[in-house]
Parts: sequence; C-alpha cells; structure tokens
Amino acid sequence: MLELEAAPAVDPLCPHCSRDLTKVLFRELSGMMGRRFIYFCYHCHKVLGISHRKGFWMG
Ligand SMILES: [Zn+2]
Repeated sequence: MLELEAAPAVDPLCPHCSRDLTKVLFRELSGMMGRRFIYFCYHCHKVLGISHRKGFWMG
C-alpha cells in the first residue's frame, strides 16, 4: 500500500525541466467534452496534466 504524507515544505519538481514547481499555470479548454483545464509548468510551459473531471465549474 502506498503511504500518503503531507509535505507542505517540499516543492514538487517539473518532470521536464526539473525546476521547482513554485507556480503552476493553467488554461481553460472548452469544447464538446465540456470544460477542462490544462496545467503547465511556469518555467518551461510543458504540460503537466489535464483535468478530466466532467462538469467541473470554476466561478
Ligand atoms: Zn518545467
């Protein structure tokens, strides 16, 4: 079993440029599949992930 531990003092690293992910940028994608958000590195702009939650509304 994988253990989960909060680490608020540790910055995650970008898997692409290996710099500290002190900030993550996102853009909204909209289309027939609903609203999604694409997240990317503040430093190198490479994509970290896309939200797959359907019907997720922000504001
Ligand atoms: Zn990066």
